[in-house]
Amino acid sequence: MAIERTLSMIKPDAVAAGNAGNILQHFEDNGLRIVACKKTRLSLAQAQAFYAVHAARPFYNDLVTFMTEGPIFAQVLEGENAVAHHRSIMGATNPAQADEGTIRKLYASNIERNACHGSDSVENAAGEIAFFFSGAELLG
Ligand code: GDP
Repeated sequence: MAIERTLSMIKPDAVAAGNAGNILQHFEDNGLRIVACKKTRLSLAQAQAFYAVHAARPFYNDLVTFMTEGPIFAQVLEGENAVAHHRSIMGATNPAQADEGTIRKLYASNIERNACHGSDSVENAAGEIAFFFSGAELLG
């Protein structure tokens, strides 16, 4: 299997609840290496740009408001099949449908406040990594 990199984010709900450390440990316990990590807070413009693909969806304004309510952690994770592997560790978007032991089952409140984000393709991962990190910040 190919070694990939994916962009992972711990959302404001999980950071505020004090679960960032547990979630980072969860990634490492599941074979994903942290090659970059930062705590930051998205501006409204940044949140709108990051989720621009959802701009026409009815939940878009609520989503960007949520994503700017407090700090997030952004990290680049590396490993075999990392994009799909990370999404399976996160679980379904709606925690009510997430498998036992996934991050969203453990830490999410609802379909919006769902604790984490993960890129959905290698191509999108490259763009999302560049959104948060310069090449020099990726310490493989
Ligand atoms: P993901 O790839 O699993 O994060 O899911 P999507 O790309 O479909 O959605 C992006 C984010 O928008 C999700 O992680 C949720 O935070 C939020 N979201 C998705 N669907 C809904 C919805 O039906 N209602 C609300 N309020 N938020 C949603």
